[in-house]
Amino acid sequence: TSWITSSTEIQKLKDEENRKEGFLKLVSHELKTPVTSIKGYVQLLLTMLPEANQENGELPVKPYLNRIETQVERLIRLISEMLDLSRIEHNEMELKKEKFSLNHHVEEIIEDISYSNKEVQIELKHHCECDVIADKDRIGQVIINFITNALKYSPEDNRVEVTVYNKTENEVAVSVKDFGIGIEKKEINKIFKRFYRVSGNRDETYAGFGIGLYLSNEIVKRHNGKIVVNSEFGIGSEFIFVLPLN
Ligand code: ADP
Repeated sequence: TSWITSSTEIQKLKDEENRKEGFLKLVSHELKTPVTSIKGYVQLLLTMLPEANQENGELPVKPYLNRIETQVERLIRLISEMLDLSRIEHNEMELKKEKFSLNHHVEEIIEDISYSNKEVQIELKHHCECDVIADKDRIGQVIINFITNALKYSPEDNRVEVTVYNKTENEVAVSVKDFGIGIEKKEINKIFKRFYRVSGNRDETYAGFGIGLYLSNEIVKRHNGKIVVNSEFGIGSEFIFVLPLN
């Protein structure tokens, strides 16, 4: 009987787990669709609305719409991260591999981020003609995560240096270097854990959920690559991901 009980218990736990995951997926999908539609309409309004003529007493609406757009984008990112988390836990993250130029991809991402974030300085320091066979969107996700973190954790210095280079004959690397707050040695291995954020009042100062690096690491591992971090507390950090070339 004890075996029967324990197997029923296990089944119960499994059901519970499935319900929880099903719920997470449902919520994410149900949230993502309406929020994406809100973003679309906000962007439409932004292009349709003329600038307010304040001398005629018209209210300046556009700055508020811009803020709504920024917040909605944050929400969409968070929902996507939750979905990815659930996919990884269920081994459902499929890679769609294709051949592409890592260099071009990095350039495009830098352009996009710089366009919507005028005061930042992202410099592509060095590049190589590196074609890789990988999942373009997923690798892009890692690059975006590194760059947005570099900007977020650099409250006083908006410079970010990005380098794409051949690490060895068979490996290509992308490095994202910042001049921000840095990370203490004892924290470096922990930041890749799910939901882990460096403790202290930094948690309230810098918005986030501690999912980005966990996802980045999982994506890079699935490409048989690795992530290397060089950081000095108070000086800055460098996040590098290395991919095998074939
Ligand atoms: P989030 O930024 O949402 O907290 P991440 O998983 O991307 O989540 O990062 C985990 C933690 O690693 C962050 O909370 C932060 O403490 C630290 N971290 C990541 N990137 C940097 C960086 N460039 N400089 C300093 N600390 C960083």
